[in-house]
Amino acid sequence: AVEVSGLTRRFGDHTVLDGVDLTITGGEFAALLGRSGSGKSTLLRALAGLDHGVAGAGTLTKPDRISMVFQDSRLLPWQRLLANVTFGLRARDRRRRGSDALREVGLGGREDAWPHELSGGEQQRASLARSLAGEPELLLADEPFGALDALTRIRMHALLRRLCERHRPAVLLVTHDVDEAITLADRVLVLHDGAIRTDLTADVPRPRRVTDPEFARIRTAL
Ligand code: ATP
Ligand code: MG
Repeated sequence: AVEVSGLTRRFGDHTVLDGVDLTITGGEFAALLGRSGSGKSTLLRALAGLDHGVAGAGTLTKPDRISMVFQDSRLLPWQRLLANVTFGLRARDRRRRGSDALREVGLGGREDAWPHELSGGEQQRASLARSLAGEPELLLADEPFGALDALTRIRMHALLRRLCERHRPAVLLVTHDVDEAITLADRVLVLHDGAIRTDLTADVPRPRRVTDPEFARIRTAL
């Protein structure tokens, strides 16, 4: 689980996060919506423990094994795909876990490719594979499906759901797509004016459809 309370982040006199309270338990899949510039990436960085400028009376409790999929894929350009995907893993686990993860995202057999040889969407999927290979307890994903076509997107959704059911990490996934958030996640959060303003918990089994009142609440919060 990840638990944060009173999380505040300012850049100069611009308060981006203004006392965020949030708990996501293991096995729970939360989607985070919010306008561009609302602070979604800032919140993810803070939850990952990557932001030392976080202030306030905030407390953060997080697990040891965290993976983050960044908005840009951030593969290391001087490392081949397998090395990128298994960065930080024990040497004896690398080949198997890396190859499995690459196969799961549709990049089987590309272990020896260089990042620059991949398309934008392939780089995104490689970045997702890196997160899967690490078997995290907390998965933070910042618009991981942005550069994917509709069909690949649906395959990646299914993959992520399967993974979550298998390893039960806490998941926080940023997306701009309201439908994606509602169909994929157990909980839909909206970040607005520095805090989580809407927190919808799914009450019907998947596959879900957005109910009109839910859609209206999210739209209002956005
Ligand atoms: P998008 O949907 O466009 O990715 P976002 O919700 O992820 O947006 P953030 O990247 O978290 O937004 O940025 C939130 C605000 O904080 C923006 O106004 C941004 O300019 C500001 N900000 C982020 N990082 C810094 C920084 N290092 N220095 C100054 N301002 C920053
Ligand atoms: Mg962002």
